Amino acid sequence: MKIIGLTGGIGSGKSTAAQILAELGAKVIDADKVAHEVFSPGTEGLQKVVETFGEGVLDSNGKIDRKKLGEIVFNNPSALSILNGIIHPRAYELTKSRLDEFSKQGVEVVVLEVILLVEAGWDHLADEIWVTVATEDTVINRLQKSRGLTKEEIITRIHAQTPNEERIKYADVVIENDGSYEELEAKLNELWSRIRDKNSA
Ligand code: ATP
Repeated sequence: MKIIGLTGGIGSGKSTAAQILAELGAKVIDADKVAHEVFSPGTEGLQKVVETFGEGVLDSNGKIDRKKLGEIVFNNPSALSILNGIIHPRAYELTKSRLDEFSKQGVEVVVLEVILLVEAGWDHLADEIWVTVATEDTVINRLQKSRGLTKEEIITRIHAQTPNEERIKYADVVIENDGSYEELEAKLNELWSRIRDKNSA
């Protein structure tokens, strides 16, 4: 089984690329979604979050109210690091067990989409690292439209992240995504054929 670690900056097109790869036949694990599953109802993760931050983080249905939790950790680095200490190891274990399940099922290609793939030390789970890259102008244009963020908000977020030059250094494949959706699809089709050829060689 081949595991592609897919990463890239905010709005660079990771999720769009992952979706195209899923249509081509890859199984996708989105680390962000896994992180939310860690404290879904009935989990030990949820219990731990409540023990740590109090019952005030629950909504009326007993689920974690992400807005309330967000308010607690916003601008509070030590609370954020405690929360990350609860979420990250559990998300990592859950991801590993999901990879094991896929491997047992005979899945050939898994795309592991992680925004902090290298920064969080998850890169060693992947056989190859693919990085989506788009210019600041492209990201601003796209996110203003799709997420209703202001230009200033987008620039602040881009600058808070690892710069593209750093990401490119560890990339096995750089996917430049400043063109149309069709162009992105064409690039991924080509990359997909390449891995399929390698897998069957
Ligand atoms: P984040 O890390 O913030 O979740 P991301 O890297 O997953 O972002 P996407 O959500 O895939 O990025 O893309 C950001 C926005 O840009 C989306 O609205 C998506 O539809 C759009 N987009 C991505 N690639 C293209 C493209 N090639 N052509 C047109 N729109 C695109």
